Amino acid sequence: MIHDIHIVGGGLAGCEAAWQLAQRGVSVRLSEMRGASDSLADRTPAHQTDGLAELVCSNSFRSDDDAKNAVGLLHHEMRQLGSLVMRAGEVARVPAGSAMAVDRDVFSVEVERALTEHPKITVMRERIDALPASGPTIVATGPLTAEALATSIVAATGQDRLAFFDAIAPIVHRDSIDMDVCWFQSRWNKGDGKDYINCPMTRDQYLAFHQGLLDGEKIVFKEWEADTPYFEGCMPIEVMAARGVDTLRFGPMKPVGLDNPRDANPEFPQGRWPHAVVQLRQDNKLGTLWNMVGFQTKLKHGAQTELFRTIPGLQNAEFARLGGLHRNTFLNSPLVLDRQLRLKGADHIRFAGQITGCEGYVESSAVGIMAGLMAASELSGRAWEAPPRTTAMGALLAHITGDAEAETYQPMNVNFGLFPPLHDVGKKARKEAYTDRAKADFSAWTTSRQLEPA
Ligand SMILES: Cc1cc2nc3c(=O)[nH]c(=O)nc-3n(C[C@H](O)[C@H](O)[C@H](O)COP(=O)(O)OP(=O)(O)OC[C@H]3O[C@@H](n4cnc5c(N)ncnc54)[C@H](O)[C@@H]3O)c2cc1C
Repeated sequence: MIHDIHIVGGGLAGCEAAWQLAQRGVSVRLSEMRGASDSLADRTPAHQTDGLAELVCSNSFRSDDDAKNAVGLLHHEMRQLGSLVMRAGEVARVPAGSAMAVDRDVFSVEVERALTEHPKITVMRERIDALPASGPTIVATGPLTAEALATSIVAATGQDRLAFFDAIAPIVHRDSIDMDVCWFQSRWNKGDGKDYINCPMTRDQYLAFHQGLLDGEKIVFKEWEADTPYFEGCMPIEVMAARGVDTLRFGPMKPVGLDNPRDANPEFPQGRWPHAVVQLRQDNKLGTLWNMVGFQTKLKHGAQTELFRTIPGLQNAEFARLGGLHRNTFLNSPLVLDRQLRLKGADHIRFAGQITGCEGYVESSAVGIMAGLMAASELSGRAWEAPPRTTAMGALLAHITGDAEAETYQPMNVNFGLFPPLHDVGKKARKEAYTDRAKADFSAWTTSRQLEPA
């Protein structure tokens, strides 16, 4: 079979990439393992059907508010590019207030119909067990990539560049941290001495916090996640807390070498070590997002927000994302992919979707669109120009392909913390200002690139 490009994985990202390419005249072979046989090797533990673009859990694409919300803005940009997921989503839409929710079966049937009826697309029910040695390829096999292919990816990228579980610590918007309470300092003033933001705790505050971790409601692992390995470096904070009242004070909440300048006195002019400290470390190059070091957790989201806002200095914290621990296959993209989502050293292979380290149905679809557009540019000999970083797509792409800190790279939803900050706008009007700027810049980008909706 002759085709211009091979896409592996018929989930949200693979389907979007196939659609963008086919609509631009490129012939596509789309390989999806589900439906190839009844063997367990051709299934994932989460998918229930053989349908393309199956939504494995919630039926929501989250907020559809493109005036104030980063996901809603991503919807808007996807629609501008003729997104298949957004089109099928409209057909399958069910009432959900300002959110966009769909009937998952109608949605999947609609995506599959559009792709199978397209003259440029051949859908193959087949599992791919190794990265192709040559030929343009997009790998979009998602968080539950089949084992043999994952092994092949590890062989190409290196053992520690493909993760099989995420261990997400909460991420806080920098401008919501109270710097009248916290202070910048690295332990023992190492590095440039100011790499961390420190939140001090008294003994009573610490004891109450410790109890809160023990009492907080936790999410139970799904059956097939139950063997999630707790590596020492990514153990949930509440599991550590259960080992003893002071375990955290010898672990992520260690206060030694951290002098709180607000406790300075003539005897200790630099300040004193608090009883315990919560540290935050910069998470993106823009400096807008800071992660809570060592705070990966299975606490329910409501419990996390409530408890973490009891930490001095975080009383008004706005979370760009909350903590979690799931089975999830994803690359250390800032290290292994170039700015066009191509594997460094094997640039005939592009990655798309959640395997790149974005998170969620909408983000995975958006990265699928971008991979499709990049490949279409390449195949037609046109230089690729990324969407501006001030747009939702541009911000997400920049984060994945180099702006995130590789050392702490964990899956990320789209959020305004990924956008270049707007300092001269009051906090209340900021979300509208981000979306206004993004819409203008996105429109200029599509016009200059002569990008018609697919
Ligand atoms: C249990 C679970 C619950 C989730 N809940 C939500 C949620 O509620 N909301 C949300 O927004 N996101 C959720 N996610 C994340 C969501 O699944 C992903 O963001 C999204 O589906 C990723 O799209 P994708 O195209 O990258 O991967 P997928 O949609 O998973 O598609 C990947 C496709 O590749 C196929 N495949 C895998 N390996 C091979 C191979 N070797 N050869 C051929 N085909 C292969 C798979 O069968 C699958 O169809 C959840 C994820 C999981 C695992």
